[in-house]
Amino acid sequence: MAKRDYYEVLGLQKGASQEEIRKAYRQLAKKYHPDINKEPGAEEKFKEINEAYDTLSDEQKRARYDQFGPDDPTGGFNGGGGFSGGFGFGGFDDIINSFFGGGGRRSGNETRQGADVEKQMNITFEEAVFGCKKKIRLSVDEECIQCGGTGAASKNDIKTCSKCGGKGRVFIRQQTIFGSSTVQTNCPDCNGKGKIVTKKCETCGGKGRVRKTKDVEVTIPAGIQTGMTLRMEGYGETGYNGGPNGDLYISFICGEHKNFVRDGQNIILEIPISFTQAALGDTIEVPTIDGNVSLRIPAGTQSGTKFRLRGKGTKNPKGGITRGDQIVVTNVETPTSLTNEEKKLFEQLGNVQKAEKKSPWEKFKNLFK
Ligand SMILES: [Zn+2]
Ligand SMILES: [Zn+2]
Repeated sequence: MAKRDYYEVLGLQKGASQEEIRKAYRQLAKKYHPDINKEPGAEEKFKEINEAYDTLSDEQKRARYDQFGPDDPTGGFNGGGGFSGGFGFGGFDDIINSFFGGGGRRSGNETRQGADVEKQMNITFEEAVFGCKKKIRLSVDEECIQCGGTGAASKNDIKTCSKCGGKGRVFIRQQTIFGSSTVQTNCPDCNGKGKIVTKKCETCGGKGRVRKTKDVEVTIPAGIQTGMTLRMEGYGETGYNGGPNGDLYISFICGEHKNFVRDGQNIILEIPISFTQAALGDTIEVPTIDGNVSLRIPAGTQSGTKFRLRGKGTKNPKGGITRGDQIVVTNVETPTSLTNEEKKLFEQLGNVQKAEKKSPWEKFKNLFK
């Protein structure tokens, strides 16, 4: 979207003085402030006004703007300069607070979601592959049962705040850059709650909340992998004033197996086969996570050959019926200690290959002749 000219936004001529810029900004900001102006687009307009003011009220930024316009090649505008949305304050809500004295727009009675809780869980290879149920110990804030979250010793110990008459909000006069104005803010006596507790609940000390340790049973889906996170809705900190609870996030670290190696939903298994099995072929029993299965090794199998056992990998923890595969990688082992009989047989084989010039070495040597 093309940006409007900043002078145009504030209804000014290019040579406007700082006093004129300030004046125009005050008027427009008051007019389009989202707390006052509920018309659609007012908030956007308010942001635009602030952005224009942010640049034009700063002589350096203004000079650069005058020279390059909104498409500043140095990236100083269009948000590249880091002020878009910031306005030199902490953000949009802050600017409202600092100008209009919101002093915390959040009232003490507002329903609010409880905080999320993050946990890490170590599980074994088997638990990760097959899924399991496991308990996790949490320490979270819960509403105090004794006082029902009011923080008071009894119902009679809760009085309506006399300063705000129970509204939780009071009007104060404040100096802002727009001049003196009346603004609404949280009642300082009752912290916006509208009620004052005269005698505190002994169980929670008046906080209305108590720290509780509890065990939560977690259902871990089959196929979970290290780094994956499980979200358990509503298992976080208790909400405020009837607001929803936060969520519990559990991230997993899965243990290793001494033979099986996980690769996503696939499982890799390296198996040693003998020189003769590789040369002549064989049918062997290969372990999988479901138990042994038969695998035919064809004659002439090389070291590093991969065989795929379909559906012998893990389930998808996010759902779905398709399982991964098991990849079997052969490792042809050269014998290191031979019995006399074996040695004799290998020598015989060697002589046959030499006579027929069939050994790999003979073939290789012939390439250079
Ligand atoms: Zn009050
Ligand atoms: Zn209590």
